[in-house]
Amino acid sequence: MAIAMVIIAQYHMEVNLFGETICKSEEEPVCPICQTKLKFRDWRRRISIKEGRDVTWIMIRRLYCKKCRRLHNELPDILSPYKHYEAETIEGVVDGIVLPDDADSEMYPCAATMNRWKQWIAHNTPFIEGFLRMIGYSIMELGKEYLMTGEKIFDSLRKRLPPERKSWLGYINRIIYNSGASLEPFPKVEAP
Ligand SMILES: [Zn+2]
Repeated sequence: MAIAMVIIAQYHMEVNLFGETICKSEEEPVCPICQTKLKFRDWRRRISIKEGRDVTWIMIRRLYCKKCRRLHNELPDILSPYKHYEAETIEGVVDGIVLPDDADSEMYPCAATMNRWKQWIAHNTPFIEGFLRMIGYSIMELGKEYLMTGEKIFDSLRKRLPPERKSWLGYINRIIYNSGASLEPFPKVEAP
């Protein structure tokens, strides 16, 4: 079974006396399945790789839902479920800002990894677009005229995300995973 996750946007990182980086959550997440307030269970180490292959292990909270009896990893939105690289790096590649050609092999993920990310987003794009349209229609009450335009909501979100929300992948992850849905891995199941 896939690991259940909640993605948080309000947090800060602290380094403790042992040199460990701790993700200090400022949120009190609810279970994406039953909306019960989650309880702290324990800490878990999670890898985080920045552009430049700079590896940090971050301590994240593992939360427990006493109703569903399930554990949920609390992931800061700089990270993406099942991906080791930070969302910002993945976005840079998907948006074509980081190209395999200009990538120094010492500094960037390999071309195969970059291609996988592009394929992963391309594979999930119809689902993400449908999800955003559903939210636009049912929650934000956007008119039919808006939703019937040819413009893809996902594309415009990628271009016009407000500056305080720098990461479109973090934003997408948050609305999808916190609703109890998930993106599909591509091409197959990846390591958590
Ligand atoms: Zn639950």
